[in-house]
Amino acid sequence: MTRRVCVIPGDDAAPEAVLPSLRVLQAMEPGIEFVELPDGQAGRREHGDRWNDVCIEAIEATDTTLFGSSSGATPAIGYLRYGKDTYANVRPTRYLPGAESPLRNPEGIDFVIVRENTEDVYTGIEGDLSLLTPLKLTSRRNNPLPESGGRFAIKVITEEKTRRVVEFAFRLAQRRKDRGHRGSVISACKWNVLPQTDGLFRDVAAEVASEYHDIEYTNYLADDFARRIVATPLDLDVVVLPNLYGDILSDEAAALVGGLGLAPSACYGDDFAYFEPVHGTAPDIMGAGTINPTATLLSAAMMLDHLELGDAGDRLVGAIEAVFADGSTMTPDQGGDSTAEQFCDAVIERL
Ligand code: ATP
Repeated sequence: MTRRVCVIPGDDAAPEAVLPSLRVLQAMEPGIEFVELPDGQAGRREHGDRWNDVCIEAIEATDTTLFGSSSGATPAIGYLRYGKDTYANVRPTRYLPGAESPLRNPEGIDFVIVRENTEDVYTGIEGDLSLLTPLKLTSRRNNPLPESGGRFAIKVITEEKTRRVVEFAFRLAQRRKDRGHRGSVISACKWNVLPQTDGLFRDVAAEVASEYHDIEYTNYLADDFARRIVATPLDLDVVVLPNLYGDILSDEAAALVGGLGLAPSACYGDDFAYFEPVHGTAPDIMGAGTINPTATLLSAAMMLDHLELGDAGDRLVGAIEAVFADGSTMTPDQGGDSTAEQFCDAVIERL
């Protein structure tokens, strides 16, 4: 059965990683029909006010989406995340021998951060402090709220959305355990400072954990856990985090194994998933053609697994690993001088 994949290249330098990655996928001939959309600027020019609808129609007409990254010109990200309720943002951190790690011994690092993808401070609700005055809020800490001269942001944690993402993390840990991983889940938050919101996250996570007797479970304070990521990364298996900590700590995790150029991600809902690198649009290197496409390619490999295309995902990962082991076609972030196109040519040669 032919699968249909919507390819949304995104903005700034992101298309410079997505388009050569698409060439790699086409070279694999895995039985996919690709529906390719323009980059953000071209999309706006070609479709004007209909650009967002054009993206949504293409997403709906296909089985899944490979997305670059958006700095605003490609609006589809809102639909992919909130419209499709893709609540579990899965961000693997795995060391590929040959990658530039700041650690003396990064061999064997292989863990996955599951970031809650729909709530927390990403509600997008902020305002002037004066709006809160009528509510007469009192501080738990004898630290009175100023009535003006500043802004506030709303952080929302719900039981339902915490439960579903933590359950996702435990199911992932079970599948990884079947493949020889440790079988552990860690959660981290700041329940000491935020006993209402992060306290709820911690309580719900502990409740879910009590239902999974085959998986170890530990909760850390987020700051302590940030240190542990660097100090003892080999101890980690599956980590589940509220949205903001997940965003920040997965960039930290990526640094251990070579940086954002190597960090893939997948966003899963109950009946839809899409795939995108962790990194943003890298506007500072736009036009150079040297953005590292590995993060996009590894996201594409996760997509091939999701589409259940036999060993296609493993073949792609194997070819990427071979290019890193060889080391002669690296992009500048990995100490080389190759372009994304040249890197992808090297992957195609090794498929
Ligand atoms: P966002 O907030 O959208 O996640 P960001 O502010 O974290 O974006 P990025 O676009 O991810 O920023 O870029 C951060 C830095 O990492 C920039 O210097 C960028 O050039 C670099 N970078 C990001 N992705 C890559 C990549 N694939 N290859 C090489 N460098 C990259």
